[in-house]
Amino acid sequence: MKAAVYDGTEITIKEVQKPILKNSQVLIKVKSVGICGTDLAIVKGNLPTPTPIILGHEFTGKIIEVGNEVDHTWTGKRVSSEINSHVDKNCYFCERKMYTQCLARKALGIDIDGALSEYISIEEYLLHEIPQTISYQEGTFIEPLAAAYQTFEMMPLDKDDKIVAIFGQGKLGFLILQVAIHKGLSVIAIDGSNHKLSLAKKFGASHIINRLDTSDIIKEIQDLTSGLGADIVIDTTGNPEALKAVVASCRTRGKLHIKSTHGLETPINLTDIVVRELTLYSSRCGPFEKAIGGLKSGDIKVKELISKEYALEDIKEAFASYEKSRDHIKTIINL
Ligand SMILES: [Zn+2]
Repeated sequence: MKAAVYDGTEITIKEVQKPILKNSQVLIKVKSVGICGTDLAIVKGNLPTPTPIILGHEFTGKIIEVGNEVDHTWTGKRVSSEINSHVDKNCYFCERKMYTQCLARKALGIDIDGALSEYISIEEYLLHEIPQTISYQEGTFIEPLAAAYQTFEMMPLDKDDKIVAIFGQGKLGFLILQVAIHKGLSVIAIDGSNHKLSLAKKFGASHIINRLDTSDIIKEIQDLTSGLGADIVIDTTGNPEALKAVVASCRTRGKLHIKSTHGLETPINLTDIVVRELTLYSSRCGPFEKAIGGLKSGDIKVKELISKEYALEDIKEAFASYEKSRDHIKTIINL
């Protein structure tokens, strides 16, 4: 079968062996795969992975075969998959049902082969059926949308949490923005693209700030928040340079939440965090059922986040699409 393989230097299409199905697994014909900031960080060499590796962890497909130990009714179903495979159901975290942090886990497309290929075999426990009303392309947003919901699973809101500033309107920023609005928060969206900021406004952001049109983002956020700073500041920029403003624009005793996984060293003013008693949160993989529910109900809209679609053969062009325009949000590969 054809697969997009990263060899440590570049990503190319190679002919590889079709996965051999284990008894506990299903074989999926891959339909759509989203390219994510993590994939870009790996290909840039910033996030070390074993190589060669088939990338791709935001995907949908159709089950074409099931292993002997798997519920046979999965056959033919349209599915999305969680990414934390090789869970041992035995460690400290598994005992506490925190399977996404299992000590033995291996992430699809990051630690082991992922979905940028014609077929993938995965464990049954990773599967989630997607409703007919969600297209395969929209379904690629389930994994990142679950991560957007996880932001608020890990960071419970209190009565003083009213305004959230979201740095970076990429795919994840837009998903968190929509979840935040459904949580009743008022959103300040920060980005360098007027196209993205107008979309943020359409999705319900109360205020937008183009970081390239202002000499002082921190002051602008303070001006919008009675001089205090935002109650919550979320970083999805994928850019270490943004952290200075992320910390400084948070109100005293406010909440910082880091979502970027760029793999780079990040300068951060810990003294300011300590002196103003900020709380630092982080989060990654989240609840798939909430994400599927959000898409199904129409609470979360993703169609306008798809900027480009490519065939697997055009993988190099697909990765390069992120570099071409500041207005680019999401690239999807269709198979
Ligand atoms: Zn475990």
